[in-house]
Amino acid sequence: MSLNIEQIRADFPILHQQIYRRPLIYFDNAASTQKPRLVIDAIRHYYEHDNCNIHRGVHYLSVKATEAYEEARKEIQRFINAKSTHEIIFTKGATESLNLVASSFGKRYIQRGDEVITSIMEHHSNFVPWQQMCLERGATLRVLGINEHGELDLDELKDLLNEKTRLIAVTHVSNVLGTINPVKEIVGLAHQHGIPVLLDGAQGVSHLPVDVQDLDCDFYCFSGHKMYAPMGTGVMYGKEKYLEELPPYQLGGEMIKDVYLDHTTFNELPFKFEAGTPNVEGVMGMKAAIAYLQQLGMDNIAAYEERLLKYATEQLSAIEGIKFYGTAPHKASLVSFIIGDIHPYDAGMIIDKMGIAVRTGHHCAMPLMDFLKIPGTVRASFAFYNTMEEVDQLIAAIHKAKAMLT
Ligand code: PMP
Repeated sequence: MSLNIEQIRADFPILHQQIYRRPLIYFDNAASTQKPRLVIDAIRHYYEHDNCNIHRGVHYLSVKATEAYEEARKEIQRFINAKSTHEIIFTKGATESLNLVASSFGKRYIQRGDEVITSIMEHHSNFVPWQQMCLERGATLRVLGINEHGELDLDELKDLLNEKTRLIAVTHVSNVLGTINPVKEIVGLAHQHGIPVLLDGAQGVSHLPVDVQDLDCDFYCFSGHKMYAPMGTGVMYGKEKYLEELPPYQLGGEMIKDVYLDHTTFNELPFKFEAGTPNVEGVMGMKAAIAYLQQLGMDNIAAYEERLLKYATEQLSAIEGIKFYGTAPHKASLVSFIIGDIHPYDAGMIIDKMGIAVRTGHHCAMPLMDFLKIPGTVRASFAFYNTMEEVDQLIAAIHKAKAMLT
């Protein structure tokens, strides 16, 4: 089924505005996606009808809010095909999910001399928590490299794996290069050695159908706001066998079973990892966002975004002096590039004045920028509400930037 883009655009109120007296073109979807009316309405509905703290009350509203919250957990379980709702932990985003795993996994499993493998293409959120945990525990962080297309080097991964490796933490999709990593292969390889794999799914869930049982990954972390859901929402998926073993990340209300003067017993899964009052309104919005994505169909979304990517890549390639970063055949819908000698920031400023939102800079991936020996890139990242005509506008804006800056 092909998507009706005009109808989809009508679902996103924010897209219908003028910026510098031009129609807004939003190509910063890898940073955060816009929200359909359905999501905004779900938040409003929650506050107008159901608002209450959850899990604690016997009264009508508390029970209603709790049921809605737990229903959302079931939806997310189905969305990523987890085995059980016990494996779905709500967080405030991918960053918190990744910190949770790094902290708890580190405490439980990492000792002096152990090794964790990550990659050079990671977002700081899937790099710094591992780096710091390894420093604290006297472990070593091994960093997997990439080839000239921006793909992970699996032969190097085979060489890095050894009896000291305790975990591999890599991204599903690179937020800078767009590369869709061969994560199923990586999981297969790691499991041959009995090593668990964490996937940073922040850029995965919004573009691709994700089936955690099929991937067989041990942890999958993502943010709501990059998948059309509200800010401050996220998920940490973990296999139950690990979540049972890991110590809690934060302590306080909700995550306890019994508290005594000298010790505390912890709640069962998933509540053991959900200390304090959660972002219930956000989770209501996330449930609505998932319903919206499912209605469009993740396969349809992926197919349309691939067309956008192909068109943008072709059009951009015709611009003299453009250099792409990330040319893997298997890519999500974003392009990172530098135009001749023009600093990405200067290009971004001029493109912005044309009403087009692109991102410039290091994209929270400084180790990758150092590896590529560049200060940053211009990144245009597409969503299913973007159009080929908008891509044409970007090309015109780049020509203008070139004319002004060279
Ligand atoms: N990982 C990747 C690959 C990302 O792109 C991002 C966000 N740019 C994050 C992690 C962190 O997500 P958040 O800021 O929503 O926690």
